[in-house]
Amino acid sequence: MRRPFIAGNWKMYKTVGEAIDLAAGLKESLAAVSTMDLAVCPPSTAVSAVANVLAKSNIGVGVQNMYWEENGAFTGEISPLMVKELAAYVIIGHSERRQFFGETDDTVNRKLKAGLAHGLTPIVCIGESLAQNEAGETVAFVGAQIRGAFAGISEENARKVVLAYEPIWAIGTGRTAMPEDADRIIREAIRDVLRELYNNATAESIRVQYGGSVKPNNMASFIVMPEIDGALVGGASLDVASFTAIVTHAVEALSR
Ligand code: PEP
Repeated sequence: MRRPFIAGNWKMYKTVGEAIDLAAGLKESLAAVSTMDLAVCPPSTAVSAVANVLAKSNIGVGVQNMYWEENGAFTGEISPLMVKELAAYVIIGHSERRQFFGETDDTVNRKLKAGLAHGLTPIVCIGESLAQNEAGETVAFVGAQIRGAFAGISEENARKVVLAYEPIWAIGTGRTAMPEDADRIIREAIRDVLRELYNNATAESIRVQYGGSVKPNNMASFIVMPEIDGALVGGASLDVASFTAIVTHAVEALSR
């Protein structure tokens, strides 16, 4: 059984004060949730403050990106050693990082290795563009992203990775994949490839979130899919009421 996991990606939103307020609200509203893992990923400037608010809560903290070296002359970057002091999770290879900051399957692989080496839980994002989707290239493309990300990763470490399948055309657009389509892509492009790279038990043990315009009114339709183990939520994680409703709907749907 894979434990469900819903994480919020706050992107480049929230000052420290706003982040503290949001974290405090979620700490209270989600305190009773015990059947799934929860996390929020604030901007780096607010990670320390949010980690303080969420200490001894059921909500973990993550960062949205990091570099793979432990330290050095890498202006503007943060390292796994620094992340580890404050957070348990690291988002790696979000499509916005790939699109705007030149991240590739190779940099994703380096960051993944660094995160695992430092005991962080990586949330690795993969997903196809609209053009690739329309050309019927999704399974091949996402499968190649998985092969790139996991190159040289041991089976033991692979099991610690969380994946987020996020079709790029669904991120921040209000347009979602059909839950059945997302389920099929996860099966064919992710689990089948993991089965080939490792084995059946490993492929079945790795958690895969769906991401792309997840809202309170569509969360249930994704979480009930057999291959979908939760969500990576952007816009709708920026507000106590909507993130709480997403989690609550997921908990209810799974208890039916
Ligand atoms: C994301 O940032 O990973 C994301 C899925 O964003 P949104 O929920 O806003 O589409």
